[in-house]
Amino acid sequence: MHAPVTAAVHGLDFDTMNAARLARDPAFDGVFFIAVKTTGIYCRPVCRVRPPLARNIAFYPSAAAAEGAGFRPCLKCRPESAPFCPAWNGTRTTVDRALKLIDAGALDGNGTVEQLAERCGVGPRHLARLFAQHLGASPIAVAQTRRVQRAMQMIAHTRLPMTEIAHAAGFASLRRFNEVIAARYARTPTALRKVRPHNVT
Ligand SMILES: [Zn+2]
Repeated sequence: MHAPVTAAVHGLDFDTMNAARLARDPAFDGVFFIAVKTTGIYCRPVCRVRPPLARNIAFYPSAAAAEGAGFRPCLKCRPESAPFCPAWNGTRTTVDRALKLIDAGALDGNGTVEQLAERCGVGPRHLARLFAQHLGASPIAVAQTRRVQRAMQMIAHTRLPMTEIAHAAGFASLRRFNEVIAARYARTPTALRKVRPHNVT
């Protein structure tokens, strides 16, 4: 469990982020995430549900960080599929490179954080520190969030059987896939297929 980020996220203060989410400013989509303490759900700044009161929210620098703190993704705005941190893309090169490798499946299957760190030219502990600093989550947690993201897109947009989705999304097994989805959404993958996401863009 991570402590909620009450101070700055990527150098943004609370008031800036609060104004951005009330305006549903798309420029901040993927830069920060809003967790609602009263519901246990986290959202994108562009979410179209009625904005919660400022006193009930906490900001997180990544979807993985919000999930690490125990929040579940909103089924309307699908925060786990937000574009990744455009505000600082390319400026944190090691983290950026690691994220691209994770996107490409570097931590799926038999991939390890040690191998990932080596490909980024740093030690595993240094990589873990950089992730904690910039994303508030470990490489493993980020990889898990990416697997969930891939799976959710396939659940929503294809009729593929769940076994194929689990495999294609990078999960080790169908059982693991079911466990992770149940823990995140409190629903089965099949029940999620019936939920229609809003178009948020
Ligand atoms: Zn939402």
